[in-house]
Amino acid sequence: MKISRVAERLGLPKERLSELQETIVKESDWPPPRLMRFDKPVSGVEAGTVVFYTGEVVYGYPKIKRAMLLEPAIKRQFTGIVAVEEKMNGYNLRATSIDGEIVALTRGGYICPFSTEVVRDRIDPEVFRDHPEIVLCGEMVGPENPYVPKSIYPVDSAEFVLFDIAKKNSRVTQGVHPTHDLAEEYGLNVTPLLGEFRAEGAYKEIVPIVRDLGKRGREGIVLKDVSNEAPPIKYTCSESNCMDLEHAFRYYNDYASDFIVSRVVREGFQAVEWGESSEEIRARAARLGESILLPLADTIRRKMEKEQIAQSVQIRVKRIQTAKDFEQHLRRMGIRAIFDIPVPDVDGYVVRIEKMVMSTNDKTQAMIDGQLW
Ligand code: ATP
Ligand code: MG
Repeated sequence: MKISRVAERLGLPKERLSELQETIVKESDWPPPRLMRFDKPVSGVEAGTVVFYTGEVVYGYPKIKRAMLLEPAIKRQFTGIVAVEEKMNGYNLRATSIDGEIVALTRGGYICPFSTEVVRDRIDPEVFRDHPEIVLCGEMVGPENPYVPKSIYPVDSAEFVLFDIAKKNSRVTQGVHPTHDLAEEYGLNVTPLLGEFRAEGAYKEIVPIVRDLGKRGREGIVLKDVSNEAPPIKYTCSESNCMDLEHAFRYYNDYASDFIVSRVVREGFQAVEWGESSEEIRARAARLGESILLPLADTIRRKMEKEQIAQSVQIRVKRIQTAKDFEQHLRRMGIRAIFDIPVPDVDGYVVRIEKMVMSTNDKTQAMIDGQLW
C-alpha cells in the first residue's frame, strides 16, 4: 500500500508514517481484504484504526472515560439532556462493507473470522447497500462468544448489538438518536435506551437504574449527550465489577494489576456516594472479598490436584472453515488455544475451545513446588 496515500488520508506527515511502519502500523492481507492497522494511537489517530487497500479509513472506536462518582461527573460533563444507555458486556466490533463484502473489525483493528460470519448472518445487508459508507459500532454479546462469553442476556448464541454509527473516513460518530432510528428502520438489535433526563436532575434518576441493572447481572450504563457534543461517560454496577474480579482472580497471573485495582477502587467510591450504612458496606466488603478469594483458592486447589487451568469457551459456526480461520486468527493474536473437533448442531457446528492461561498455570505450579514469589 502506498504510504503517501495513507498518510494523506489520515492527515499525517508521510515521514512519520514510514517511521512507524512495522512497529505501530502493521500491514495484513489475511483475512482479506488487505489493510493497514494501527496497533497504538498515533497523533490523534485512535488505536484500532484501519486503512483498507481501497483507501477507505475506519477509525478506532473512541475510548470512553469512566465516572467514579456519578453526581459530580454528570454535573461536570453534561449540560443539556443526558441519555442513559445500557452498557453491553461483550466485545467491541465495527462492521462495515468493503467492496461489497461485510467485515467485522475487533477493537484492535483485526478482521475476526468468527465475528465476520456472525455479523454477515445477523445484520440485514440492505443497511450496507443503502449506506455504503456506514460503520456499525456495536457489542458482540452472548454465551457462545470466544472473548467475553456471558449468559446474562436473552441470547442463545451470539448477537451483535448496535450502540453507535459512524462513516468511513470520518472520526465522528453519530450518537444516540441517529443510531436508534437506524436500528428501528432496519430491524437491528440495539442497546436499550433506558431514559433521557435533564443533566441537573439526572443523578437521582440514574441510581435506581444502576441498582436494577446490577441485580440483573448486567454491566452498567453509558451516559450520552443527546446533542452529541459532550463525550459519553461510562459507569458500572457493583455486581459486574465483582464478576470481573472473580474471573480475574481465577486466572490471577494472566491479568494486569490495573484491571484488578481499578475495580476495587470503584467499589470504594460507589459505597461512599451511595451513603451506605456500616451494615451495607460490610455486605459489599463480603461480596468483594468473596469475588477475590473464592476463585483464587479454587485455582490453587485445582492445580494441586494436577488439573490444567484453562478457560473453556464455545462458538457456533456455519462453516467448518470459519472455525479453522478463527483458530488461525487466535494463533496470530498470540493466544494459545486447543480446538475440539466441530460437532454438527442446529445452524452449523459447535466448537469447544480451551484457552490456555499459561502464566497462571506456571506461577501456581511454581508456588506448589516451593518456589518464592
Ligand atoms: P474503552 O473501550 O473505553 O477503551 P475498555 O476497552 O476497557 O475501554 P469498556 O470498559 O468495556 O472498554 O468500555 C467501553 C466499551 O463499552 C466500548 O468500547 C464499547 O465496546 C462498550 N459498550 C457497551 N455498550 C455501549 C454503549 N451503549 N455505548 C457505547 N459503548 C458501549
Ligand atoms: Mg467492555
